[in-house]
Amino acid sequence: MKIKAYAAKEKGGRIEAFEYEPKELGPEDIEVKISHCGVCHSDLHLLNDDFGMTQFPFVPGHEITGTVTAKGEKAMFAIGDMVGIGWQSGSCGECAYCRHGEENLCALSSATCVSGFGGYAEKIRINSRFALKIPAGLAPSEAAPLLCGGVTVYTPFKVYGVRPWMKVGVIGIGGLGHLALQFARAMGCEVTAFSTSENKEKEALALGAHNFVSTRKNGVMTSLAGRFDFIISTVSADVNWGEYINALAPKGRLSIVGVPENEIKFHAFPLLVGQRSVSGSVIGSPSTIGEMLEFSARNGVKAKTEIYKMSEVNDVFERVRANKVRYRAVLEN
Ligand code: NAP
Ligand code: ZN
Repeated sequence: MKIKAYAAKEKGGRIEAFEYEPKELGPEDIEVKISHCGVCHSDLHLLNDDFGMTQFPFVPGHEITGTVTAKGEKAMFAIGDMVGIGWQSGSCGECAYCRHGEENLCALSSATCVSGFGGYAEKIRINSRFALKIPAGLAPSEAAPLLCGGVTVYTPFKVYGVRPWMKVGVIGIGGLGHLALQFARAMGCEVTAFSTSENKEKEALALGAHNFVSTRKNGVMTSLAGRFDFIISTVSADVNWGEYINALAPKGRLSIVGVPENEIKFHAFPLLVGQRSVSGSVIGSPSTIGEMLEFSARNGVKAKTEIYKMSEVNDVFERVRANKVRYRAVLEN
């Protein structure tokens, strides 16, 4: 049996129809018939080999929803279950992080569309430990972006103890950012959207922001000095990091999940004064994904999507590059 997929043959190349022979179904593996796959900005980074880890031919896609069509004898799930698969496809299972449920921090973590062929395809075979059941009440198209984008912004809120009384800022209202606004609002926080796109204001407020800051306006950041307990950055571009550090209250934290093009530079002094910190975060563990999916189903958090056919992927990448997507493109089979 061959699996039909879409692949780039070389760095930065066009994505074209591609077929591959899947690996044999292992005892813990499931085969999933893909219904939807979100287009994360990381897929674009991988196409350009920005992380220095892409294998070609490259089948992108790591925000997958679909139904289980086959399973190994030890695999979780039943045939017909609706499941989701995110960035991570494997970990050592033995290190301290794996053993206490932080598999996303395992040094031997493998990635769905790097260690294998990803979700821009009709099917995928994967270890069932890294798949999660999609709760009733979440549509597969709206749930797919939660599997990477959703858990990536939910995890730092959880790990760094964001609380209902806090003032939270979200930099970049794209795929990750529009989910971060919804999570922060559902968690009871005062929420501010920082955006370079003035025309996103109305939708950002509808998604849960109390305030919208158009960052291209001169002087606007100075007026916000010392205000925020927690700011999450989802931008894939360079911004003035010092301005955001100045916008933190004492003990405030800037949490970086987006991957800007260049080194992040800022002065030490504003960090020392007020004991502010800057930290990073990567995706989330399978148990956190499960918890985040339930939280989303209960609180109405879902991706606002543009739906395309898998074959339209090159045009979709152009829309992502041009920051035109509102707010997550999802490919549908
Ligand atoms: P996206 O949908 O393209 O959104 C990024 C947003 O950044 C844009 O919507 C835009 O928001 C803002 N932006 C774009 N160009 C900008 C510029 N020149 N200056 C300032 N802001 C700009 O991307 P995404 O899928 O949300 O991914 C965002 C980043 O997170 C990517 O780098 C991706 O690789 C990374 N990521 C990391 C993890 C992790 O585990 N840490 C997981 C998934 C993704 P405005 O229009 O509102 O300004
Ligand atoms: Zn992603």
